[in-house]
Amino acid sequence: MSIAHLLIDQPTLSQSSRIAAGLVNPVVLKRLKAVHDAQQFIEEALPFYEDIEKQANSQFLHSIPVQHILQSQEEQNNWHTRSMHPSLSPFLNPTLKKETLKHIPAPYGLGEVWQSFWVNTPHFLAAHKEVLAKHILAFGINSENIDLERKTLTLNDRQYSFDYLVDCSGHLARALHPELEQVFTPTRGEVLIIKAPSLDESKLLHAGIFILPLGNQLFKVGATYHWDTLEDKPTPEGREKLITELEKIYSGQYEVIEHLAGVRPNIKDRKPLLGQLKKGLYMFNGMGSRAVLMAPYLADLLINHVEQKTPLPKEYDLNRFSIF
Ligand SMILES: Cc1cc2nc3c(=O)[nH]c(=O)nc-3n(C[C@H](O)[C@H](O)[C@H](O)COP(=O)(O)OP(=O)(O)OC[C@H]3O[C@@H](n4cnc5c(N)ncnc54)[C@H](O)[C@@H]3O)c2cc1C
Repeated sequence: MSIAHLLIDQPTLSQSSRIAAGLVNPVVLKRLKAVHDAQQFIEEALPFYEDIEKQANSQFLHSIPVQHILQSQEEQNNWHTRSMHPSLSPFLNPTLKKETLKHIPAPYGLGEVWQSFWVNTPHFLAAHKEVLAKHILAFGINSENIDLERKTLTLNDRQYSFDYLVDCSGHLARALHPELEQVFTPTRGEVLIIKAPSLDESKLLHAGIFILPLGNQLFKVGATYHWDTLEDKPTPEGREKLITELEKIYSGQYEVIEHLAGVRPNIKDRKPLLGQLKKGLYMFNGMGSRAVLMAPYLADLLINHVEQKTPLPKEYDLNRFSIF
């Protein structure tokens, strides 16, 4: 069978992208550092999402900036200093906002992150699925389905031939290719969906955790980082941690509606993992906590590498690890 490309996905296997907050934040707020290549990532990401929105006649891209609640005079001074730095001046608004938020004390002001935005990932995935409809096949792949020598894939007794495969199976890539275990450090992340009628729905707030307005008085609160059980199952500890963090900044009424978990595909050096794993098999992985920001640009890099033999930047190439 001849098809330009086929997307094989068994979505029930992992749900990281579906439960992710979907924030695009070019700044690591904990350390006040710009994400490496942030500007390039944003320039590729925005038109990519806008294009899918147009094709699917859907809306999942929201221009709502991240507002960081500053916690001390020291943090305030640091924000001012760092916003002058050339790597951060495109992203940190040096003018802090003084606002009175209901049930959220912010005496040191709010620091706005320019060029941050939100992609509603479940809506994006549904829209993208519609656009790619003819090319999608729901199937759980295991190594017996793949014959890299013959370049064939056998699915439901049907044989497909291919020029190359790109594995984008997130943290589960470790199951298909056990050698990857050595470079992965996946993290389970948990989020709560809360209903909070007195929270301001026009603000995406951050203070260690984020509070993201979803509409209809619902907010996504997250996220945690756990290195133990790497499953999509939420835990009582995760819930407790999120509630504690939320109540440190918000003293109003709320009700927990849902509690979700997913596993981020992190790599040991916190960089993406792209490139050829075996002849005919490429990896697109290691999106960590910033898939929404990075994936469109990285996908272009990988496809140019595969089709035009354009070298990959060393810091993203899986060959940086001596085991490959
Ligand atoms: C709580 C939480 C909050 C997050 N917040 C953000 C955020 O705000 N911004 C951001 O950019 N990122 C965020 N992330 C990170 C982001 O979700 C991940 O980096 C991203 O989802 C990884 O996407 P992926 O496609 O590589 O993996 P996945 O989303 O895991 O997708 C892999 C797909 O492959 C399928 N699959 C796996 N194995 C097989 C197989 N053998 N056969 C067939 N199909 C298979 C899976 O079922 C799944 O559909 C967050 C993650 C978590 C957990």
